Amino acid sequence: RPMWRMIKSGFTTGDADVFAPYRDRLIHLFTLACLVIFAPFALANFLLDRVPLGIVTLIIILILLVNSWAIRRRKPPPVPLWVLVFPVIAAMITALLTPLYMALAWLYPMAILFYFILQRGIANACVAATVGIAGVLMYFLLPPDISVRVTTRVVGSLTLTAVFCNIFLAIISDLHRQLLHQATVDPLTGAYNRRHMQRVLDEAMQRAGRSRLAATLLVLDIDHFKQVNDRLGHAAGDQALVRVANSLRQHVRATDVLFRMGGEEFLIFLPETTQDAAAIVAEKLRQDIETGETTPGHTLTISIGVSGLRDGDTLEQWLAAGDKALYQAKNSGRNRVCVRD
Ligand code: GH3
Ligand code: MG
Ligand code: MG
Repeated sequence: RPMWRMIKSGFTTGDADVFAPYRDRLIHLFTLACLVIFAPFALANFLLDRVPLGIVTLIIILILLVNSWAIRRRKPPPVPLWVLVFPVIAAMITALLTPLYMALAWLYPMAILFYFILQRGIANACVAATVGIAGVLMYFLLPPDISVRVTTRVVGSLTLTAVFCNIFLAIISDLHRQLLHQATVDPLTGAYNRRHMQRVLDEAMQRAGRSRLAATLLVLDIDHFKQVNDRLGHAAGDQALVRVANSLRQHVRATDVLFRMGGEEFLIFLPETTQDAAAIVAEKLRQDIETGETTPGHTLTISIGVSGLRDGDTLEQWLAAGDKALYQAKNSGRNRVCVRD
């Protein structure tokens, strides 16, 4: 994907919040960094009689300490990290109101912090608000001879920092997406792999159990596929597998899921579909493959086992019933559909 589109997708489609699984572990680091680097300044605020600023900086430190303590004791952190946004912005405003430019240096790590603790779109909104507030305060509070020069530079450099953060996050999201794709999709046919099947079907069974809706599996195997390889070569065999997968995908609903179980065996999960309805779909798929042009000069056929989910089925039983129906289809002459009895 082009870079600008990767960056834009953080605002529009909402890329996966890739830092979410890391936030709890980040808290210890934040707390440590905060105690070592930030706490002495917080203390100085009290000593130098800047009490309001001292109080908000103390709140930031307390939130981190309470969370860090909870995590150490294996409890969920009591204060969500995004709450930090409020004392952090309050601290910034208070700091800008009192000793002027000294506080500006903190704006940059603060902006970066937002990208760690918030979803990217929300972090961008917070940084935009920060740039706006800081810009207005600086413009009116700084001595007139330097106010325009300092304000434009701070607004510009803060915006640049935000742009760089967006680039980092866009690249991380893209890598995350690629990794997920590679871990779940078979590269030859584009069907989901066996490992992903386990997760999809586990979730589907839980959902079906709760809602008492039907769900059916089709177990498909290409007939005499060894002959395709022997006669036409392995490359043509691969090509046939791709065409079969495309044909199957084309003729099922968007909510049905195609898996390649290995070799020339596929599985289709049909949610909210009874065994009888699925048997009609299976027959249609069988005919499409038989009459389609999957391999030039060779009629390819498939056998299909249809297995509707039954009360009390485990995933293994559900799959085994499909395998058994497929075995029956193979034994009774291939190129046919058999249904779980
Ligand atoms: P049956 O009708 O009993 O299913 O016969 P079959 O020949 O299809 O079954 P068998 O399981 O004995 O052979 C499957 C063949 O599929 C063996 C292997 O050469 C071929 N095969 C498995 N994976 C691939 C692949 O990724 N590419 C190609 N070209 N062939 C494959
Ligand atoms: Mg086969
Ligand atoms: Mg096979």
